[in-house]
Amino acid sequence: MNQYMEKTDASLVHTYNRFPVVMEKGEGVYLYDTDGKKYLDFAAGIAVCGLGYGNRELNQTLKEQIDMLTHTSNLFYNTTCGKAAEALKKLTSMDRVFFTNSGTEAIEGALKAARKYAYKKGSGRYEFIAMEHSFHGRSIGAVSVTGNEHYRTPFEPMLPGVKFAKFNNLDSVKALVCDKTCAVILEPVQGEGGIHMADPEFMKGIRKLCDEEGILMICDEIQCGMGRTGSMFAWQSYGTKPDIMAMAKAIGSGVPVGAFAMTEAVAAYSLEPGDHGTTYGGNPFACAAVAKTAEIFERENLLAHINEVGAYLEDCLNGLKNELPDEIVERRGLRLIQGIKIKKPVGEVINKALEEGLALISASDNVLRLVPPLIITKEHVDEMICILKRILE
Ligand SMILES: *Cc1c(COP(=O)(O)O)cnc(C)c1O
Repeated sequence: MNQYMEKTDASLVHTYNRFPVVMEKGEGVYLYDTDGKKYLDFAAGIAVCGLGYGNRELNQTLKEQIDMLTHTSNLFYNTTCGKAAEALKKLTSMDRVFFTNSGTEAIEGALKAARKYAYKKGSGRYEFIAMEHSFHGRSIGAVSVTGNEHYRTPFEPMLPGVKFAKFNNLDSVKALVCDKTCAVILEPVQGEGGIHMADPEFMKGIRKLCDEEGILMICDEIQCGMGRTGSMFAWQSYGTKPDIMAMAKAIGSGVPVGAFAMTEAVAAYSLEPGDHGTTYGGNPFACAAVAKTAEIFERENLLAHINEVGAYLEDCLNGLKNELPDEIVERRGLRLIQGIKIKKPVGEVINKALEEGLALISASDNVLRLVPPLIITKEHVDEMICILKRILE
């Protein structure tokens, strides 16, 4: 273990299983540790650093914003916040945006917005239907809708009124609907749960069910959103639109920021002044990151790049699976969010990859999760495949 880490890690609450490496610097799609060793990064700080590391334009914007204004709280409107909201409105086609400081908080806000809507409509609805193997965050509200007992059990009792349906099984959702159902919440691509994509019929079926029953549909786009699937937000490729959505991770390119957004139809009956708030949320610094990230996405036409490189990544992983049928069980995912279920213990594979200069993460049931910076090129994919093949075969 790195000496620096040995000395300082003891003063932190032991909540993370960290890798035995101390990262010091990032450049493009590479990380460098304190010994100067270089790592090709297919983790992107858990799907956060979409623009990679050291983006000059983003960094310059952030430096200028620091000198201008970083915080006033929501006592005052600031134009950077307005600019970021406009940018997200355009990308999501939602009507109203609320900025938070994390994904978890975006989920909390989305749940509150749904409950307030039901309250104001006088419908008496308060229950949430969530999916098995979902992940929505670690606060009591977010963990209550997270379909994984490992995250929930030590913190019980959970929020009342949450039921879990089987992902991609519309009948199991229908079976849970009653006149108390307030909202259905789901990730269009389950991340932590092992990179499982919603079937088109499932997404469309949920939308139809919600419309018929007067239930709100909430999409958690925190991991799969912001271009990663080749659509700006994953739900957009299904021809459905949620009523409320949560974003975070890549929207700030590494600056801590999240957001939830809703349609005008929801907003008209939802949160009002005094209902919800956050001291830091919507601060000019975080919002400068969001606005600049959105600007770079559009100008550089990153979606086209993601579709091209993402399709190449899919081909390469399919090829690797064909070459190593005894080692790779399944490839799942879309474009730059991929999971490969393997036979070898995933922890060992990740540690070996780290030794060989490749940063990877896992998900759920022995799945290697590939969520690289969105700016990776085909050459980077080749480099990753070469290392991975050596380790897996
Ligand atoms: C990471 C994640 C969250 C939680 O976001 P934080 O910023 O860690 O609070 C919620 N939902 C999904 C799908 C995530 O991937």
